[in-house]
Amino acid sequence: MSIETAIGLTTGQPYPYERVELVEPDWTRFPGWASVTADDWASVQWQRAHCIKNLKQLRELMGDLLDERFYADLERDQAERATMSMLVPPQMMNTMVPTFSPGGAGSMTEAFYADPVRHYMIPVFSDRRTDWSSHPHATRDSLHEHDMWVAEGLTHRYPTKVLAELLPTCPQYCGHCTRMDLVGNSTPVIEKLKFTAKPVDRLDSMFEYLRRTPQVRDVVVSGGDVANMPWPRLEDFLTRLLEIDNIRDIRLATKALIGLPQHWLQPDVVEGVRRVATLANARGVSLAMHTHANHANSITPIVAEAAGAMLDAGLRDVRNQGVLLNGVNADPHALLDLCFRLLDGARIMPYYFYMCDMIPFSEHWRVSVADAQKLQHHIMGYLPGFATPRIVCDVPFVGKRWVHQLADYDTERGISYWTKNYRTSIEATSDDALSRTYEYYDPIHTLPEAGQQWWAEHGNLDESALKAAEVAEASRRTAALQAW
Ligand code: SF4
Repeated sequence: MSIETAIGLTTGQPYPYERVELVEPDWTRFPGWASVTADDWASVQWQRAHCIKNLKQLRELMGDLLDERFYADLERDQAERATMSMLVPPQMMNTMVPTFSPGGAGSMTEAFYADPVRHYMIPVFSDRRTDWSSHPHATRDSLHEHDMWVAEGLTHRYPTKVLAELLPTCPQYCGHCTRMDLVGNSTPVIEKLKFTAKPVDRLDSMFEYLRRTPQVRDVVVSGGDVANMPWPRLEDFLTRLLEIDNIRDIRLATKALIGLPQHWLQPDVVEGVRRVATLANARGVSLAMHTHANHANSITPIVAEAAGAMLDAGLRDVRNQGVLLNGVNADPHALLDLCFRLLDGARIMPYYFYMCDMIPFSEHWRVSVADAQKLQHHIMGYLPGFATPRIVCDVPFVGKRWVHQLADYDTERGISYWTKNYRTSIEATSDDALSRTYEYYDPIHTLPEAGQQWWAEHGNLDESALKAAEVAEASRRTAALQAW
């Protein structure tokens, strides 16, 4: 649906708000789970043991509900395009085609192809663009997080905050993952980077850096997904973090709250969160959870229960950082449906929608900055101001900018120019870091004919990209030396 046509004036307001009760779709509609009990479903061990990891398991689950052409489409994608391996917990799988019933009207294959959650969790070859499947400026580590490592896995990009990548795995793998360079298993297309230091040494290096860098006050504890770290080890990390006086904000990054909420409902995990939250509150530190939901269908009663358990255990907030994706949510109704479902049903605060980053083979998901600006306009005024998400562009070498913050925009070639007001960790001595502009690129298929023609003639890396690559390589070496 286009952004313009999605705003239909049928009910007096472009968006007809209506409170919706959350529903857990009936998992027994899938032939492979026809006899799965509610106790099994609530068990995190059962959920982890029954993740869909390959074509064979998808076939076992779906029986003949899906045509062969879908399996062939998926197989080709995995061989030629996928940057993430397949890993879908039953909870997530169950939010695809939630109302389809076998024997009912319509084709499961068509419904599955059209499903928004399927679209980013189980991408197929025919989803992707065949003209420009990757942007010429797409890169594996598109945000240059590794280049800004000050210890292995610790990215220092903004002046007062860092990102700590504790582990490179998640309970679920999203097709569009921006950390596809590091996270998950290698695919035929992408050989993943590996951490080289021992986990205990990596974490010690992170603490050592945080202790000697008092201007850092805010740590995003991420991965991967912290739900894949055994709770005692995560609790130990958080407790050590709380001993550092300069740390005032801690955010736990976990899509599992949406994809595997059963993890965060385990009694020992809830009790552990309560212990850490009590300690954080006693020390005046804000401890929050950041999760990642992209579509309203993902917000079910068990997700709400898990978010409620985290808040009741003492977290300051649970916030959502979605990704803006064509075919999933790049539509004002879809965004507002998701935000209201989060806010009304699950006490989760809509916070950000990131534009999809310029990683390989992501062009079919990405939207232009101009469309992101329209979406931001269309969702204003419906939600409380504190819960109106900002749509942000994560500009390489810059960081998050609100989509209306650009300094200049060549709409014909789809090049937006951005500025920043701080130096990242790799620019301490750069003279022009604060005066130059930095580029972000729209998907080429969204450009006018003249722009597409320009890219057809100039689609190789230009001089500035080569320069950026040199900077990146130099800083990677520096980070490696520092970590050593
Ligand atoms: S949960 Fe986050 S880190 Fe993990 S695959 Fe999805 S986007 Fe990537």
